[in-house]
Amino acid sequence: MDEANRTLIDRARSLAPELVEFRRDLHRHPELSFQEHRTAGLVADRLEALGLNALRGIAKTGVVADIGNGPGPIVALRADMDALPIQELFDHDYGSGVAGVMHACGHDFHTAGLVGAAHILVAERDAGRLPHGTVRLLFQPSEETTDEDGKSGATRMIEAGSLDGVDAVVGLHVGGHLPRGKLFIAEGSIMAGSEEIRVEIRGRSAHAAHPEQGVDALVLAAQGVLASQQAVARAISPMDPGVVTFGTIHGGVANNVLADSVKLHGTLRYFRDEVRDQLAGAVTQAFRGLEAQGAEVVVKIGPGYPPVVNDADITKIVRRAAETMIGANAVLPMERWMAAEDFSFLARRAPGCFVWLGAALETPHEHHHPRFDVDDSVLPTSAALMAGAATALLEERAGGD
Ligand SMILES: [Zn+2]
Ligand SMILES: [Zn+2]
Repeated sequence: MDEANRTLIDRARSLAPELVEFRRDLHRHPELSFQEHRTAGLVADRLEALGLNALRGIAKTGVVADIGNGPGPIVALRADMDALPIQELFDHDYGSGVAGVMHACGHDFHTAGLVGAAHILVAERDAGRLPHGTVRLLFQPSEETTDEDGKSGATRMIEAGSLDGVDAVVGLHVGGHLPRGKLFIAEGSIMAGSEEIRVEIRGRSAHAAHPEQGVDALVLAAQGVLASQQAVARAISPMDPGVVTFGTIHGGVANNVLADSVKLHGTLRYFRDEVRDQLAGAVTQAFRGLEAQGAEVVVKIGPGYPPVVNDADITKIVRRAAETMIGANAVLPMERWMAAEDFSFLARRAPGCFVWLGAALETPHEHHHPRFDVDDSVLPTSAALMAGAATALLEERAGGD
């Protein structure tokens, strides 16, 4: 196993120039969610060049391909492909050529990395070293956002049947803020569930000099925002993390007129479904209670992404494979955090494991920052880790049956 995994790393290293070039090409040509036409086309072309049958147009703009090696378990590897509506600020030569669109989350890295894993796995199969079964490559559209029906790429891929019969699913996210070459992995809930909160408060306008004649939606909104913070402080156990944040507030027409309507847009985050229900209930209560003061209030919470929950058995296998590849001291426990990921839907469909691979540059910037970038010399490691995880899972799952 150790020897075989070292071969994977070596094979991945030889792919380095090609993978870096591909990632930078994708970086120059970012595409928004469910519009990944060029990206998907390039991916499918590359898979076909490897002799694989690439299914195009899955879940609108996704690509799926199987690396088959006889009957056995099916292990899925997932990469997301979409960019973000952000204007990139860059001083390198692979900056975005599309105004207002940018790969600010590293999904270009994921796409190139999984193509790299495909190269490795096909070579391993041809060399007779891949265990029996199938590795399914999922090139997923739209992780960052949902379509007009409120569904993201992962949900659309499940609906397209891409997860049917899958025994394990693995996803990898590059971490622009995490130390280079270190893999972060943990079992259980590692990333938060996230739901949108939309509130509209309808009061009654009046001249500012006669507040008694109106119902001030703005004052009521302020009360609601503060009462919502109490929800976090008092409705849930201090041992249970939860977040309620309002990011936007809009209302009113003039400085001397009572606002007759205010709209708020926020997010609710949690790890446990019970906490979600408690927070949603308390936030709804905080705003609906304002109706006693004469306003009409509409509160809409959800839908969103559930928490990412890593399966204990799958995670153990992936961790062990990673340790033999990059060394135990490069595999670290991941601390859970409140960001969300639609991999959670895939991991609800099949036992899954989502990991983070550090690729911080000297001056790191947060994901979704206009100067976000990663050290793409880590790409071969990413490709080898995905290939190694799939190989180990095929072996273990087949052995377990
Ligand atoms: Zn993102
Ligand atoms: Zn992302």
